[in-house]
Amino acid sequence: MAYDAGKPNENKQILIIGSGFAGLCMAIKLREQGIEDFQILERGDDVGGTWRDNHYPGCACDVQSHLYSFSFEPNPEWTRMFARQPEIKAYLEKCAAKYDLRRHIVFGANVQNARYDEATATWTVKTADGRSFSGRVLVSGMGGLSNPAMPNVKGLDSFKGKAFHSAHWDHGYDLSDKRVAVIGTGASAIQFVPQIQKAAKRVDLYQRTAPWIMPKPDREIGSRERRLYRALPALQNAYRTAIYWMLESRVLGFAVNPKLMTMVEGVARGHIKRQIKDPALRAKVTPDYTIGCKRILISNDYYPALAQANVDVITDDIVEVRANSVVDSAGNERVVDAIIYGTGFKAQDPMPRGTVFGNGGVDLLDAWKTGPEAYLGLSVAGFPNFFMLVGPNTGLGHNSMVFMIESQVAYVMDALRTMRKQKLRAVDVKPDAQVTFNESIQGQLSKTVWTSGCKSWYVDANGKNTTLWPGFTFIYRGKTRRFPATAYRLERDPATVTA
Ligand code: NAP
Repeated sequence: MAYDAGKPNENKQILIIGSGFAGLCMAIKLREQGIEDFQILERGDDVGGTWRDNHYPGCACDVQSHLYSFSFEPNPEWTRMFARQPEIKAYLEKCAAKYDLRRHIVFGANVQNARYDEATATWTVKTADGRSFSGRVLVSGMGGLSNPAMPNVKGLDSFKGKAFHSAHWDHGYDLSDKRVAVIGTGASAIQFVPQIQKAAKRVDLYQRTAPWIMPKPDREIGSRERRLYRALPALQNAYRTAIYWMLESRVLGFAVNPKLMTMVEGVARGHIKRQIKDPALRAKVTPDYTIGCKRILISNDYYPALAQANVDVITDDIVEVRANSVVDSAGNERVVDAIIYGTGFKAQDPMPRGTVFGNGGVDLLDAWKTGPEAYLGLSVAGFPNFFMLVGPNTGLGHNSMVFMIESQVAYVMDALRTMRKQKLRAVDVKPDAQVTFNESIQGQLSKTVWTSGCKSWYVDANGKNTTLWPGFTFIYRGKTRRFPATAYRLERDPATVTA
């Protein structure tokens, strides 16, 4: 059966995994083209992806909201330059409602594995509750940062107090007057630490690597300004464009000439100096690697929170967790009521072994012997009709992921058009196209600040950057504008081949 864009079909032609920014964008664009025969498999009970799961106190976006939203769905109602999680989640819910997507979503469908059958050119997806879904095309909108990572520390399970990860925040647990250990000082922790510091009796903040933090140019967007955006959408669009180019210019420092980062580092050092008076604390929070190597964070309230009397920044490694305490490498044992893990996500392991099986039943991880890689971050040789949104090497350290997602969705739409027009039942990227593409981006990545010698979730244990796009996002947009059929092995639908 050739892919037919027009006719609704009982057997869904397209399966989308996830209903965050990526999955919703895919669904909206399908519907805009009149394609209704798709289904979204969502493990949660609502839409929103990372913005549904992460609701810790202080959770907000670190990209300006005018840009961190769909280009085709501007929101004049943002109340801050950097919207907070409830507003972003509400925005995504509104998109789902406006484009009538919920009827396409199967909630509680926690994907266990997906298998491609070459004989029928069909993907079959099994969920944890034993259900099975099939479709010709499989689109992953699972995101790279959806599975929380826990530290590998002795005795973690023996802890008898309250413990949770930032992505599983327990708002029912009252932190007032509690002694709290926080592990990690990444993007999430620097947002929730200032919030819990106000309530908790003590905060022991375990910092393994100090992050570079810049001032956050946040402000309220008042009702007059919002009215203006409502009346003049072009004005908001112009603002969005200006933000895009401002953020895009950062590639010059990250990837073109890392020496430019010295200037940025000066601003970050000034931020520490202004906000922290105690020289010992200043020394502790000053990083010892080139700024930008790990994700640059933005905050105006993190350093002031660390300077409070009830916060202790501990730079000695954690060696053991006991029933009621945390022990560090200097031999200090600190009694705590709760441990909060701000330890991030399994970015290097986006699809664990046993999840995706392609031609010949090959596990995606066996195809990824040297780490995750894909052609344009979207297609993997041997995994026909499988497209990854936010796939390998398409993450960003400098601009809005929504821009990348829209580029990727446009590419998948063009792939679907090509399949329909050419009556194809399968498209499988050629191995040499994938190799050439990845050699090129790895070559570019080797000259960037991200490989300047720090340890970050951008790079794997062997020092290979499998997560970031190496440069300008408009270059990526250009590369994904059209589906390059010549880079793929094309399989005609036997039903359409005449003798
Ligand atoms: P993260 O940036 O990966 O930070 C994890 C933190 O945990 C790091 O400080 C890490 O230290 C520490 N850690 C991990 N294992 C440890 C151990 N065994 N002992 C001590 N410390 C340990 O994770 P995240 O803060 O959740 O953020 C993840 C990503 O999500 C961000 O980079 C960003 O892309 C996204 N995010 C964005 C926003 C936003 O838009 N504002 C907010 C939150 C998250 P090391 O540095 O030494 O590894």
